[in-house]
Amino acid sequence: MTVPPGSVLVVGASAGGLTTAEALRRKGFEGRITLLGDETHLPYDRPPLSKQVLSGAWEPVRAQLRPEPALRALDAELVLGDRATGLDVMNRTVRTESGRRLGADAIVIATGVRARTFPGQANLASVHVIRTLDDAVALRAELAVAGRLVVVGDGVLGAEVAATGSGLGLDVTLAGPQSVPMESQFGAWAGGLLGDLHTEQGVRLRLGTGVSGLAGVSGRVTGVVLESGERLPADVVVVAIGGIPATDWLADSGLTCENGIVCDATCRAADGIYAVGDVARWRHQGLGALLRLENRTNATEQAVAVASNILGADQPYTPVPYFWTDQYDVKVMVHGLIPADAEVEVVEGDPAARRFVALCRSGGVARAVVGWNMPKQTRVHRGQVADALTLADGVPAGVRQGLPSSALEDLASPA
Ligand SMILES: Cc1cc2nc3c(=O)[nH]c(=O)nc-3n(C[C@H](O)[C@H](O)[C@H](O)COP(=O)(O)OP(=O)(O)OC[C@H]3O[C@@H](n4cnc5c(N)ncnc54)[C@H](O)[C@@H]3O)c2cc1C
Repeated sequence: MTVPPGSVLVVGASAGGLTTAEALRRKGFEGRITLLGDETHLPYDRPPLSKQVLSGAWEPVRAQLRPEPALRALDAELVLGDRATGLDVMNRTVRTESGRRLGADAIVIATGVRARTFPGQANLASVHVIRTLDDAVALRAELAVAGRLVVVGDGVLGAEVAATGSGLGLDVTLAGPQSVPMESQFGAWAGGLLGDLHTEQGVRLRLGTGVSGLAGVSGRVTGVVLESGERLPADVVVVAIGGIPATDWLADSGLTCENGIVCDATCRAADGIYAVGDVARWRHQGLGALLRLENRTNATEQAVAVASNILGADQPYTPVPYFWTDQYDVKVMVHGLIPADAEVEVVEGDPAARRFVALCRSGGVARAVVGWNMPKQTRVHRGQVADALTLADGVPAGVRQGLPSSALEDLASPA
């Protein structure tokens, strides 16, 4: 789009959506902004849901992204509690469940992901997912009176819920198919350190085996059955087995939706239509691949990039991927993507003291930096990963080989 639009409609009123609206205003956009969201809450942040909100350290309202005066100052029309059900790309119009038709010169899709569920879980009480504020509040209420918690899913969310449950004094078991918690995000070495931490805190690990089903009596969950045949008794089960991009409403739109909304390097899915945050799968020119990231920092950075592009910058979005997780008294930060075959070198601190920074290389190239309770020093080493990502579009195959499976899947079908 060469002429800046007069109006922008953002679908999805959370981190990515709200930041898009704020960035447009900051960059001087004076036209109409509409923010459409299917939840009834004012925009809130998700990272505290599995930590401070679930533990009870925060009242749910503290997760709200902005106070009401700041939202009013944005001068955007906030349409909440109404789901987008269809998109007309040619006419740039969105239909909603309540029958609204919202049109704009540019549309930004920021609908995130919804929680993947386990077969049969809807029929059993006390089986939870944790994606929304309502999910966190409902789970918190059950954990307050439960004794045994089983978490199905050994990724970042499962590990965080296990840590929070353990902090609440529950008897916690963490189950999943990987050999160590968060292996796909952390690699085997750092995942092993995390596994040791959970074990020390009393969390039982049942890893390296899938879950074959949930057991229940009279409509209430009583346990989790592993493929190994072991049965894990539970009062409450949390299913944390990943997210599915919220693109169902785009089925007839003509947009390419394959594990997210497929976009070009500027995050544009079609003329005047952009995607940001967890739902966007865009061409990362540094990696030479389609990439979709489910992390908080990307939602903000991509929204800012898209706001600029809507206003005419037309620049590729090439971030260094970044996420953090807080578990017990540990903050782990990861810049870059840790390759499956990473050669790990500790460059600061000492893993035994649980304060260190490690560089993860593949084919001699720094692909990621992992920081464990050393935020400042971690940021210092980030530059080496950033340098590696400035390679021109089309990273040599030898360098690509060590990337995690999520990225490899993208490399198999570059746009
Ligand atoms: C419990 C939890 C803990 C997390 N912790 C961390 C962390 O420690 N570190 C980190 O980096 N990341 C973390 N994340 C990930 C981070 O929160 C997400 O990456 C971020 O929220 C993505 O923002 P988003 O705006 O793209 O999507 P979302 O925050 O998912 O927002 C999408 C919004 O769109 C709405 N929507 C969906 N479909 C429609 C529709 N058809 N019509 C209208 N609205 C719709 C959704 O209801 C939602 O409100 C965590 C996520 C969760 C769930």
